[in-house]
Amino acid sequence: MTVGRFAPSPSGRIHLGNLFCCLLAWLSARQKGGKVVLRIEDLDTARCPARYAEQMMEDLRWLGLDWDEGPVCGGPDAPYFQSRRSALYQAALERLEDLGLIYPCFCTRAELHAASAPHREDGQAVYSGTCRDLSPAQRAERAAHRSPALRLKTPDRVFSFVDGHMGLYEENLARDCGDFLLRRSDGMFAYQLAVVVDDAAMGITEVVRGADLLSSTPRQLYLYQLLGLTPPAFCHIPLLLAPDGRRLSKRDADAGLDRLQGRVTAAELLGKLAQLAGFHPSGEPRSAAELLSEFDWEQVPREDIRLPGDLF
Ligand code: GLU
Repeated sequence: MTVGRFAPSPSGRIHLGNLFCCLLAWLSARQKGGKVVLRIEDLDTARCPARYAEQMMEDLRWLGLDWDEGPVCGGPDAPYFQSRRSALYQAALERLEDLGLIYPCFCTRAELHAASAPHREDGQAVYSGTCRDLSPAQRAERAAHRSPALRLKTPDRVFSFVDGHMGLYEENLARDCGDFLLRRSDGMFAYQLAVVVDDAAMGITEVVRGADLLSSTPRQLYLYQLLGLTPPAFCHIPLLLAPDGRRLSKRDADAGLDRLQGRVTAAELLGKLAQLAGFHPSGEPRSAAELLSEFDWEQVPREDIRLPGDLF
């Protein structure tokens, strides 16, 4: 059975890009008669106050995007808040430590910036490997002054996969990404580790998410392999951009629901999102359930989509 998921980070009011992603994840799973899991990705507790998660769930309900396992309804893999799942991440980290693939990194932000190789397309720097080969004595000396982050050694090997929507994607992890963080120096687990542990633990078979995470997938596939877990199928979808071409962010009030709710109905909004997704040309109001018969991956564009200035 297909098990899809929504995995929003509640660091602000949900915006149209997040909704677009939830809508397609929901339609894709439901159209196959599958289940939907809601997991709140609130690892960064300082940036994700509980009220945003509450608001996000209200927004999803308003749109008729329901879930079968998650906060409120519960389920076999509770808790569904990443902030309460640290023990699982810690256990995975220890498995990787036993494989000898983790090392402490003492680099400061400024050092990282100065030493990093050219930035990749997604804006992330390739880690230069400064702390990879420190001796035990050097590690002990540095640990006396600074608590380290933890990094995973990456192999000089190409990871390729066929994305269900974007097609073949590949990356040499050592060259294109470098050793990546699993835990920050303040103890916060990294998204890459948490998402793999959780998607596997929750039996997710299909991940539908924004194309900004396409380049994270090889890292995640490597973690699946090391942890002996089965990866889901991935379908990355185009991002919605502001009318001027900017990436939407949760701080970007104009694409947030604050401005729209009260002025448009859920069906009006869903009709427009489905139109942008290419499978509902008229843009007429529709409920989420009504869109199920029209949803068609083939029609969904592969390039990012600019929101029209006059959406409403
Ligand atoms: N929590 C991430 C976000 O809101 C999504 C992670 C994922 O789908 O893998 O952008």
